[in-house]
Amino acid sequence: MSFRHVAIIGLGLIGGSIGLAVREHLPGVTTTGYDNDPDVRRRAAERGLADRICESSIEAVAGADLVILCVPVGAMGEAARALVPGLSPDALVSDVGSSKQATGRMLAEALPGRAVIPAHPVAGTENSGPDAGFATLFYHRWCIVTPPEGADPAKVAALVEFWRALGAMVDTMGPEHHDRVLAVTSHIPHLIAYTIVGTASDLEEVTRSEVIKYSAGGFRDFTRIAASDPTMWRDVFLNNREAVLEMLDRFLTDFAMMREAIRASDGQTLFDLFTRTREIRRSIVAIGQDDARADFGRKHNGDG
Ligand code: NAP
Repeated sequence: MSFRHVAIIGLGLIGGSIGLAVREHLPGVTTTGYDNDPDVRRRAAERGLADRICESSIEAVAGADLVILCVPVGAMGEAARALVPGLSPDALVSDVGSSKQATGRMLAEALPGRAVIPAHPVAGTENSGPDAGFATLFYHRWCIVTPPEGADPAKVAALVEFWRALGAMVDTMGPEHHDRVLAVTSHIPHLIAYTIVGTASDLEEVTRSEVIKYSAGGFRDFTRIAASDPTMWRDVFLNNREAVLEMLDRFLTDFAMMREAIRASDGQTLFDLFTRTREIRRSIVAIGQDDARADFGRKHNGDG
């Protein structure tokens, strides 16, 4: 491994998981960690999310050859500026933010002349905070590295090697392309989930207890996504605005078509789409990106 000392800034789900995964897979690599919340620092020390939990980001990055910012997208610039006095001249700075054009811009502005290579592990859960992380979060999940123009190929290769060592599969692409892909595969689905759960809870003719009671009809799968961290997701939408708005326009056009098919009793249109989408689900299962068991393998009455 090219890196000997990894500093993790932000010790929630992603930062904590990186710390635990480094301990499991890269035993020769030292980790230091910092979070601006003292309660998170205390809990991170108890869980051993890094070898040493520091009282400032300046202290955490001192001597590190890889620094990974694991804070909400909107906090990236501020977190990067705060660590500059401790940063080694040769250190590589990366991040895990979910929108790559914005974080690339923020890090480049905050760290002029420094080696910066943003990345995004496409792995997560609806839980956040220092108790949410686990060492296997990145197993068989993609991590997308978005090197800026002119990035040192040796540093890109070292970052790719790092993520592979944590169990991830790695792709590289431009930040703009990343943001369009993630807008449709992650950001719009979250927006739909947040909206449908909001709509259901605002209905006057259906009581809240009925929504909860009959949730197995499909609603509860949206509620898992809609339980995701509000700060993180607010920042994702504010910082991937163009791509989200573009994909949202396309979605609304298709949604209106479905509305029209239902209004016109056009069963063929509905059947054709539902057949096509079923194939997508089968492809996701076939490449091992989800559980093949019915209903995500949930236990039902009578299951062992
Ligand atoms: P999280 O569990 O909420 O952890 C983020 C931590 O960073 C919080 O403890 C937060 O403290 C701390 N923090 C905020 N500003 C800071 C600063 N300036 N300096 C130091 N610490 C700071 O969030 P997460 O889910 O790990 O997400 C972190 C990043 O990963 C985000 O950029 C997100 O877009 C990206 N990501 C998330 C997922 C996912 O599914 N969750 C997946 C891939 C990538 P406070 O709570 O006190 O602000």
